[in-house]
Amino acid sequence: MTSFVGILLMAGIYLHIPFCKKACHYCNFHFSTQTEHIQSFVQAIIQEIRLQKGYLDQPIETIYFGGGTPSLLNADQLKTILGILYKHFEIAQKIECTLEANPDDIDADKLNVWKQVGINRLSIGIQSFQAEALSWMNRAHSVEQSHAAIELAQAAGFDNISIDLIYGTPTLSKEALIADLDWIEKYNIKHVSCYALTVEDKTALKKLIEKQQLEDVDPEKQAAHFELLTARLNKMGMEHYEISNFAAPGYRSQHNSNYWSGVTYLGLGPSAHSFNGASRQWNIANNALYISSLNKEELNFEIEYLSDANRYNEYIMTSLRRIEGFDLDLIEQKFGANYLEHTIRTLDALKSKDYFQQIENSIALKNTAKFLADGIASDFFILEASL
Ligand code: SF4
Repeated sequence: MTSFVGILLMAGIYLHIPFCKKACHYCNFHFSTQTEHIQSFVQAIIQEIRLQKGYLDQPIETIYFGGGTPSLLNADQLKTILGILYKHFEIAQKIECTLEANPDDIDADKLNVWKQVGINRLSIGIQSFQAEALSWMNRAHSVEQSHAAIELAQAAGFDNISIDLIYGTPTLSKEALIADLDWIEKYNIKHVSCYALTVEDKTALKKLIEKQQLEDVDPEKQAAHFELLTARLNKMGMEHYEISNFAAPGYRSQHNSNYWSGVTYLGLGPSAHSFNGASRQWNIANNALYISSLNKEELNFEIEYLSDANRYNEYIMTSLRRIEGFDLDLIEQKFGANYLEHTIRTLDALKSKDYFQQIENSIALKNTAKFLADGIASDFFILEASL
């Protein structure tokens, strides 16, 4: 199968490891703190790998362990999962293999195991180097553990390290954010994912703010933080290649870049999404039901077949978040003249806002408009059958 962005030779695999030691106040990802079920989950995901071995028909060039907290897997569990993946899929010789790890799980023994099994990229959930901010978020780790995790990982030979940073929290001052960025520079971190803290429905954070036990976030402060960190990371030579992601040259996340480019991928584990070019499907977001279905050798997911309008909307949304923007030739080639006309009409209607810059046939957002990317993309959205 091919994706809508062209003939693609490679694909990716995402594994969702749905367990955490402690619930962060702001988190709306799928996870459970009942870590005693990890081994049953591993048996289930192995079964899912076997059942889904025919889902992709291209070689795999990226594997991504996300979560939840994949660093909770022990050496045997990780080796077993990777062994089964290598048995059932054609894995390219040179792959990017990422593991998300929390600082409190990182020690020299684990790092050695990760190296041995082929993990070559770590995404470390630092979030902040400030104790007050970590406590406000209810993170499981301390500032000391953050520093130790980075130092140990670099000493173990991990060069391709990404760290997550959350900005715009009420306790994070401008000076504290600058101090966080100083640490990134000092450690020569090659990739940073920066997220504005958002208050999602059904999170502990939302309830605590409603009960006035925690201070609410301030959008103006978040916009100021975004401007500050963008300028500083650019000054460090990092490329702002996607709204939330910055990379030193050669260190973009291949897995996420593929995802944003419409490359096919298989998602394994509860709540994981898959895309094969024609449809998108998502696994049940419930650990017990996921495990019991796979114990019966049954997959438990919902599926949506994608129309041209769905694909166009997704293409616009993901590409406006990226430095490259969207390509007018590609829109005509993949979606037809009507879609191209619609795109040009929308660009004309938004002309006075001064959001866009054009390089040849590519349209991207100016720096000043990046914080508004999702809202601007929605101006281009097409409803089913309206063209
Ligand atoms: S460690 Fe990550 S997945 Fe787990 S609760 Fe915290 S933010 Fe959510």
